[in-house]
Amino acid sequence: MQAPVSSIKVVGKTYQIQERELLDGNCFGFHNAKELTIQYIPQAEGQLKDTLLHESLHALSYAIKLDLSENQVHGLAAVLIPYLKDNKAFIEWLMHSEV
Ligand SMILES: [Zn+2]
Repeated sequence: MQAPVSSIKVVGKTYQIQERELLDGNCFGFHNAKELTIQYIPQAEGQLKDTLLHESLHALSYAIKLDLSENQVHGLAAVLIPYLKDNKAFIEWLMHSEV
């Protein structure tokens, strides 16, 4: 499936989301902080969600110099989607509060 968005904002920078037939290293996705792109290969919707979240976490890590390891990004991506799904009321409150 194709990504339903063409860009993602990360700490004030806009990354263009691009589909590619192949990426180096047999990756599902790749984030390039210099070119402000997140690229992905064709994949099923569930995998694509994980891939785009994973690459977004790399971009966030880069933006604030967290230097998260591949394992840390992988682990966070794996738990964030279930966390967001399990806490919809909390997330709704976070997104719409006047803080
Ligand atoms: Zn990664």
